[in-house]
Amino acid sequence: MNALRASEAVGIMGGTFDPVHHGHLVAAEAVRAHLGLDRVVFVPAGRPPHKSDSEVTDERHRYLMTVMATVTNPLFTVSRAEIDRPGPSYTVDTIRAFRQVVGERTRLYFITGFDAVREILTWREPDVFLRLCRVVAVTRPGYPLEEVEALQRRLRAETGTSDPLSILEVPALAISSSDIRRRVAAGEPIKYLVPESVETYIAKMGLYRPGRRDLHEEAVGG
Ligand code: ATP
Ligand code: MG
Repeated sequence: MNALRASEAVGIMGGTFDPVHHGHLVAAEAVRAHLGLDRVVFVPAGRPPHKSDSEVTDERHRYLMTVMATVTNPLFTVSRAEIDRPGPSYTVDTIRAFRQVVGERTRLYFITGFDAVREILTWREPDVFLRLCRVVAVTRPGYPLEEVEALQRRLRAETGTSDPLSILEVPALAISSSDIRRRVAAGEPIKYLVPESVETYIAKMGLYRPGRRDLHEEAVGG
């Protein structure tokens, strides 16, 4: 190993990615560029603890769509860590597994939307999680700073971490996976909300359209 090389910095972008969309990609790239990260690893959730099986699309589809969406960015990769781990997916277990692989010197940044980060104290072992990585929360420009500071104080007080959270404003993107699923179900366009490959895959597999389940189960060999 080259001793002169500064330690690596890696972003971890967790999500259900049902489906992955341009909001996820813009957020990950903004954080990568801002912090000068060496790479960002997208980690599709296996079985989100707060969502039941029937509510979440088969992980094979979510994984494939995430691979297709990230393939054009040489610094983006996709991990099967959560998908391949049996049992419910807890973020702290994922970060622990990454920490073991990359060692102590690599800086790990967990990238998340500010809306999700507000729930952090309800996650499993939030104090351990905040010691293993730094959290970067993305917000829309103009997000009330008082709310961010209040959360900083709470996290500091309740987990004993000195500087647990940083915030980055990204261009306003009202895109969400739930809205995309709703649009597909209603026959509305999703063009430009997701990468073209993802749009094509959703149509080809009949995802998010009631009554088309057999088509996608057959296609992934389920
Ligand atoms: P759903 O609508 O089903 O909740 P989602 O669009 O929020 O889906 P997730 O897979 O739940 O997508 O999100 C993964 C991560 O990306 C979370 O940290 C979430 O806060 C963040 N995120 C989601 N949408 C955006 C967006 N438009 N801009 C920036 N970050 C986003
Ligand atoms: Mg969400």
